Amino acid sequence: MARYRESVCRLCRREGIKLFLKGSRCLSDKCALDRRNYAPGQHGQNRVKLSEYGTQLREKQRGKRIYGIMERQFRNYFRIADRKKGITGEMLLQLLERRLDNVVYRLGLAPTRRLARQLVRHNHFAVNSRKVNIPSYLVKKGDIIEIRENSRDLRVVRDSLKDTRGVPAWLQLDAPSMKGIVQNLPAREEINAPLQEHLIVELYSK
Ligand code: SF4
Repeated sequence: MARYRESVCRLCRREGIKLFLKGSRCLSDKCALDRRNYAPGQHGQNRVKLSEYGTQLREKQRGKRIYGIMERQFRNYFRIADRKKGITGEMLLQLLERRLDNVVYRLGLAPTRRLARQLVRHNHFAVNSRKVNIPSYLVKKGDIIEIRENSRDLRVVRDSLKDTRGVPAWLQLDAPSMKGIVQNLPAREEINAPLQEHLIVELYSK
């Protein structure tokens, strides 16, 4: 499966906003965007006026990069969202939020989505008491996500839980038992993602 292997800080610099891809480093003075707040590359410091298409494209790229998804999968989410009842952009964001790697991150059980994805892949999590190692698994209302018995002492999880990032209202965390419950599917106002999803819909609808 294709994976992005370059420096993730370049992605923040390209988008011009903090995407929080490196956990606590993003809040420290080592953040690459704070140090060099311009796009990467030889022409990164040139002023560029974006066209309408360019603005839509940047928004789509930003969405992919926040959730750590490649183009084909992201487009598939759009297709599914487009078939659902409701506002397509909101349905798209809801699908992205329901991914198991994102839920693990949102619950504070991993410092970044990237690491959450790796932990899921390495069999450290269960949904409704059954092992699930597919990061794109979509959680449903009432699902219980927990770290598996043998993985409870993982330092990265324990350290992440000490972080006070806050859990969104659609999830509930029981920190001592390292367990989370999906209370509801997320509404748009509960999704804390710096995205204008209508621009992504406009791009894919061309
Ligand atoms: Fe982005 Fe800064 Fe975090 Fe690097 S350290 S991923 S530039 S927010």
